[in-house]
Amino acid sequence: MKHVQDSTTLYNGVKMPWLGLGVFKVKDGEEVVETVKTAIQTGYRSIDTAKGYNNESGVAQGIRESGIAREDLFITTKVWNGDQGYESTLAAFEASMERLELEVLDLYLIHWPVKGKYKDTWRALEKLHQEGRIRAIGVSNFQIHHLEDLMTEAKIKPAVNQVELHPLLIQSELREYCAKHQIQIEAWSPLGQGHLVEHPLLQTIAAKYNKTAAQVILRWDLQNGIVTIPKSVTPERIRENADVYDFELTAEDIEQINSLNENKRFGSDPDNFNF
Ligand code: NAD
Repeated sequence: MKHVQDSTTLYNGVKMPWLGLGVFKVKDGEEVVETVKTAIQTGYRSIDTAKGYNNESGVAQGIRESGIAREDLFITTKVWNGDQGYESTLAAFEASMERLELEVLDLYLIHWPVKGKYKDTWRALEKLHQEGRIRAIGVSNFQIHHLEDLMTEAKIKPAVNQVELHPLLIQSELREYCAKHQIQIEAWSPLGQGHLVEHPLLQTIAAKYNKTAAQVILRWDLQNGIVTIPKSVTPERIRENADVYDFELTAEDIEQINSLNENKRFGSDPDNFNF
């Protein structure tokens, strides 16, 4: 992988860029419009939003103003917890598509595994996929037991599982399980929400390559076959986060980074959330 536009191929043949821009907590309106435009101008082709981020309209405006053709972009959004269920997901999807100004979505994810709801939600995603409205369907924050439960009834298996993943939470078992089932793992909060960019070991490794700790983490994702979606609203950092193709971590660097694992979450626990 040599370039910010390089892609992984999901098991259904759809190509998804390895690196994208996350826009959680980016304000709708000018902030998200400018952020999306800067990222696309930098070369990003994948944007990760959600109904729950309340910025789908601004994402659409940023895409429109970027001048890049729709078919060259990969757009992800997610069904919010309160919208889960079969009919309500179908309605939530149409509302997201209207805000995003899209006819066809690249990837639609179940945002969180809401108990008693996610299987009905999945049936709605399968229908939309079969109708050609969504190119790939997947989940987010699913543990192994959620995936196994979902697959007892699913007709189509998830193409992606987007989970919290960074050097303090390396998710070895889930990664192994997903690899076995050809479910692409995607890292959310890859930089630990910014907490990891001053980590001493990551900075030491970064210094060897004249790179930053953020770049080392993102490179660690890519070399491990993990799709990654760092968030920044700062043009310099948006560029920095995509400038990870001119160096290669050694097996020893990767081992050292893996050894930082503490199973530490900065976000919510998928087995214990109440929203
Ligand atoms: P992140 O790990 O990407 O960290 C972002 C923060 O790190 C920024 O706000 C900034 O403070 C800092 N930062 C970014 N680049 C930097 C750089 N080069 N140098 C120094 N500091 C830098 O955190 P995130 O936004 O929580 O996660 C990324 C994306 O993942 C989100 O925007 C969203 O799209 C997705 N996400 C999904 C879920 C989910 O439940 N599916 C949950 C959280 C996030």
